[in-house]
Amino acid sequence: RAKQEGRARYEWFSLSMYEATHRKVQVSTRISHGLAHGDFYLAYQAKVGPKENIIGFEVLLRWYDEVLGHVSPGEFIPIAEQTDKISQITLWVVKRACEELPLLIKEFGENISISLNLSPQDVNSSEVTDFILGGLASNDIPAKHIEFEITETAYMNNFGYANSFFEALKISGCHLSLDDFGTGYSSLSYLTEFNIDTLKIDKQFVSQIGQSERSEQITVAIIQMAKSLNLLVCAEGVETKAQAEFLIEKGCEILQGFLYSRPTPLKELLARRADKFVI
Ligand code: C2E
Ligand code: MG
Ligand code: MG
Ligand code: MG
Repeated sequence: RAKQEGRARYEWFSLSMYEATHRKVQVSTRISHGLAHGDFYLAYQAKVGPKENIIGFEVLLRWYDEVLGHVSPGEFIPIAEQTDKISQITLWVVKRACEELPLLIKEFGENISISLNLSPQDVNSSEVTDFILGGLASNDIPAKHIEFEITETAYMNNFGYANSFFEALKISGCHLSLDDFGTGYSSLSYLTEFNIDTLKIDKQFVSQIGQSERSEQITVAIIQMAKSLNLLVCAEGVETKAQAEFLIEKGCEILQGFLYSRPTPLKELLARRADKFVI
């Protein structure tokens, strides 16, 4: 009987593994379909300054597939990364964001910037890096309005190559932001090696403000460290007024989260007035 149960459990396990693999294959196949059929679109989430004025937007990719419905980037980005589809996605996102940027500037002012997420694999793809550096050189990608968000994994994968690509981005006038700081394989040595402008404190810490003294202490330590390195600090995942007040009081210059704005498709964003900070 134990043997039977063991066998049943084994079959259950392998079935769910099968299902997970099947889902991945399906998502990966539908990504190609979606890129070809215009099923992806960009959502914009405001970043605000200490006076809660809009200083820019993070570009977050959205996907509605006719078979799968809405699929979140938390699911499809890792699958795209594993199945070599991420560079196609990134090329599409960068192109589309640059097409949409003039509309955002018209509405929110000449000083705004947009933040684009790069995957670690993008840094190793000459198709992506050539496209970006070429676009910056020709000003098809307007450097002064562009920030790239990268994670520490991008540095780890290919130290030398990543370094020269990021340096080239900096030289062309883009801003660089280190995303999800404090999670993953944080190594402080990256902060001295690389010329980044902004540290983004992961929402894991921000969400604990008001609940965990430890997370508050870590948040304050990150802000202080960033300041002593002359870096800007952006807190992501700000959901409550109390979190915002805490962060502003501790010297955090840039805030982002549902308190101010949900990631919003362009059309919806433009339908609202620019002079309200809650959008
Ligand atoms: P990320 O770059 O760290 O983006 C922040 C995530 O936090 C976004 O999730 C955003 O919607 C969510 N968020 C923002 N404010 C709040 C808040 O107040 N509370 C909570 N609970 N969440 C908040 P999203 O849009 O689902 O994206 C997840 C991840 O997918 C992103 O994390 C990023 O790593 C990746 N991603 C999204 N778009 C792209 C893209 O165009 N290219 C690449 N390579 N990755 C992308
Ligand atoms: Mg990001
Ligand atoms: Mg982040
Ligand atoms: Mg994150």
